Amino acid sequence: MRIARFTTGDDPRFGIVTGDIDDLGIPDEDSVITALSGDPLYVGLQPTDEQHRLADARLLSPVLPRSKVVGIGRNYAAHAAEMGGDVPEEPLMFLKPNTSVVGPGDPVFYPRQSENVHFEGELAVVIGRICRDVPKEKAGDVIHGYTIGNDVTARDLQRKDGQFTRAKGFDSFCPLGPWVETELDVSDLRVQTFLNGEVRQDGRTSDLIFDVPSLVAYVTSVMTLLPGDVILTGTPEGVGPMDPGDEVEVTISGIGSLTNKVVARG
Ligand code: MG
Repeated sequence: MRIARFTTGDDPRFGIVTGDIDDLGIPDEDSVITALSGDPLYVGLQPTDEQHRLADARLLSPVLPRSKVVGIGRNYAAHAAEMGGDVPEEPLMFLKPNTSVVGPGDPVFYPRQSENVHFEGELAVVIGRICRDVPKEKAGDVIHGYTIGNDVTARDLQRKDGQFTRAKGFDSFCPLGPWVETELDVSDLRVQTFLNGEVRQDGRTSDLIFDVPSLVAYVTSVMTLLPGDVILTGTPEGVGPMDPGDEVEVTISGIGSLTNKVVARG
């Protein structure tokens, strides 16, 4: 099931998206969104009789991280190599503030402080309930579903600062969407990033060094996760710069497509 958050001009609501998506992650034009009553993470699935054509709805970030977005660095060997480093022995964890989250179609603002902003297409795990010390085998019990993330990174500031808070924490540096897919085997999904229509990243989640259950176990051995918190699982090789005016699209098989434009901060 695909659960989106949307607006048709009124207050944002959650809704269930039905209809086919093609190989490029684009929904069929007959797709429909059925509004839900409240946030399904807190009140369960309560469909209303309100329906819209998906084309008439503006999709928003499908989840509002209650407290944090947890990022994982160097979780694909080929990306660790292109970054000039080894594969970490344990997951390399960092935080992005929940204020960095934006939705499909929202601008990514290019900060004045940076001259080298990179895209990082990633599988994003959405947590469904409060949890800590989750064993690997129980990870599925605390996962609400999966969406697509772009772990936007000011590479020059990441190198300069020696840690990631500023480089990955700017407002709009965490596009998420287009919806949360709640039923999906994520062990071997294709993750692709396109810059102005040209493929730049093309990886598979089967190449993750630490898989999703391992990441849930590792992160929750350190910190409590709350409903709506997100884990970004790391990016495949092929990261690179994007500039104001560029359009970046991340597609993941079985989920869909997330597109954002880069805009200079005024
Ligand atoms: Mg990343």
